[in-house]
Amino acid sequence: MMQSDPDDPFVEIRSAVARLCAQFPAPYWRQMDREQAYPTAFVQALTQAGYLAALIPEVYGGAGLSLSAAAAILEEIQRAGANGAACHAQMYIMGSLLRHGSEAQKAQYLPQIASGTLRLQAFGVTEPGSGTDTTSITTFAEKRGDHYMVSGQKVWTSRAEHSDLMLLLARTTPKDKVVKRTDGLSVFIVDMKEALAGGMTIRPIRTMMNHSTTEIFFDNVRVPAENLIGEEGKGFRYILSGMNAERILIAAECIGDAKWFTRKSTDYANERRVFGRPIGQNQGVQFPIARAYAQMRAAELMVHHAATLFEAGRDCGAEANMAKMLAAEASWAAAEACVQTHGGFGFAEEYDIERKFREARLYQVAPISTNLILSHLAEHVLGLPRSY
Ligand SMILES: Cc1cc2nc3c(=O)[nH]c(=O)nc-3n(C[C@H](O)[C@H](O)[C@H](O)COP(=O)(O)OP(=O)(O)OC[C@H]3O[C@@H](n4cnc5c(N)ncnc54)[C@H](O)[C@@H]3O)c2cc1C
Repeated sequence: MMQSDPDDPFVEIRSAVARLCAQFPAPYWRQMDREQAYPTAFVQALTQAGYLAALIPEVYGGAGLSLSAAAAILEEIQRAGANGAACHAQMYIMGSLLRHGSEAQKAQYLPQIASGTLRLQAFGVTEPGSGTDTTSITTFAEKRGDHYMVSGQKVWTSRAEHSDLMLLLARTTPKDKVVKRTDGLSVFIVDMKEALAGGMTIRPIRTMMNHSTTEIFFDNVRVPAENLIGEEGKGFRYILSGMNAERILIAAECIGDAKWFTRKSTDYANERRVFGRPIGQNQGVQFPIARAYAQMRAAELMVHHAATLFEAGRDCGAEANMAKMLAAEASWAAAEACVQTHGGFGFAEEYDIERKFREARLYQVAPISTNLILSHLAEHVLGLPRSY
């Protein structure tokens, strides 16, 4: 029954994405989840249709679409019950390269990323020793003539086994030798095949949902100096510039998840009869669904607002963060209501709810946890003292 927005400029994109997703129905995702397998066929279909190249300018072979259009694509994938986490990063990781790479790097990589010949799916920032405190990472890239030697460790580097390239953040000057802690960090493009042959090891981490995430060890891995993006030591800024896009897109995925859960809840609440009437006739069943719907609609407005600011080239750090937080909370509320509405069947694999429930939980932690968003707002928007 949920109405779609009559002013939505992306109706056509949405229905085309929905048609593609319909080729990968629930049993496909159940099987992927059960086997913790990578949904290669789905990712290939999205790539071939050009959706993952949405944000790459046409001059480099992409679709040159807006962030709002990309958000509509990812929202629709989640709304269809699919899992965009398998490939969403192919859309936005290239942003650092696009905004800060040299013309030669852009010409070399972007057309191949756009066509899918090169998969840039892996983003190596988080480390076990530093966690959210990114400037404390210790993976080090030491300049030696025409190359760097990289040593250290990353954790939670998702899709590393399904990527040809990785965007890597490493220290090039130790933290105790820089004036500002955000200085001395650099971004590199790592060729996964070469690195695997020269000292890099990838170990999969099994997680509660099917996410193809890994930990990566670098033991004197040679990275050509020409793979440095932008200026040495300025990488933190380049990574940050991509994070707003990432947060807005992931927020859109959460909106899609919330819509999926709510549709499931209302369908079931209308159809399931207990005590001689549909369970949805009970306000105790209706209200959590309605409340989650209201939360989703509010979060959706913030996602649109953040995307509009981003597209206008305006500062949208706070809005992108709020969009991510509110959308992740809304999808979780919808997930919780969906399980409760389904009673025992909410736990049965064949209803798909328990799978989506596990998948939806991630976004209150990654790519940034709720506490860190709140402390960003407290400090940068509300003028409260820095808490860490
Ligand atoms: C499935 C999965 C996929 C991921 N994919 C990637 C990826 O592809 N690339 C990548 O680089 N990273 C990835 N991550 C990492 C993710 O971004 C981090 O897990 C997340 O940012 C939280 O960092 P952490 O796990 O180190 O938690 P920690 O920093 O150890 O924090 C633990 C808890 O303490 C809280 N906390 C910490 N400091 C404070 C503070 N000062 N005030 C209040 N609360 C605080 C946090 O909010 C959190 O709840 C992924 C993680 C997961 C689980």
